[in-house]
Amino acid sequence: MSKSKKMPSITHSVFNFKCPRCREGDLFVAKSSFNYKELTKMPKNCPVCDQVFLPEPGFYYGAMFISYIICGFWFLGFVGICIFGFDLSVNTSFVLLALMVAVLFGWIFRISRSIWIHVNVKYDPSISKKA
Ligand SMILES: [Zn+2]
Repeated sequence: MSKSKKMPSITHSVFNFKCPRCREGDLFVAKSSFNYKELTKMPKNCPVCDQVFLPEPGFYYGAMFISYIICGFWFLGFVGICIFGFDLSVNTSFVLLALMVAVLFGWIFRISRSIWIHVNVKYDPSISKKA
């Protein structure tokens, strides 16, 4: 009797940019969020379960709202901690914020798309077991 594979959690799937249906195939062509040349490149279908990654035109407009929510709270918290926690000036705090965003925008872009497609596509464990 072969040991059954452990079901991958949704958090693991979201943060590792995996397909929401099988949680195995990669959502993006380039593995790294810091590969700015191929940052936005996604395969048309999941290489494992054939789930379509662009179900309809403009599907990822919804991801912009996820991105807005993440950025809004994160940036407010970051600047708040800089100003009130570390006693930095407003200008210094915003320069630090700009630097942080310049480095992390690829990751924010990808996590927003990943969350959005995970909200809209259900996990199907039967596919995962077949593969
Ligand atoms: Zn898949």
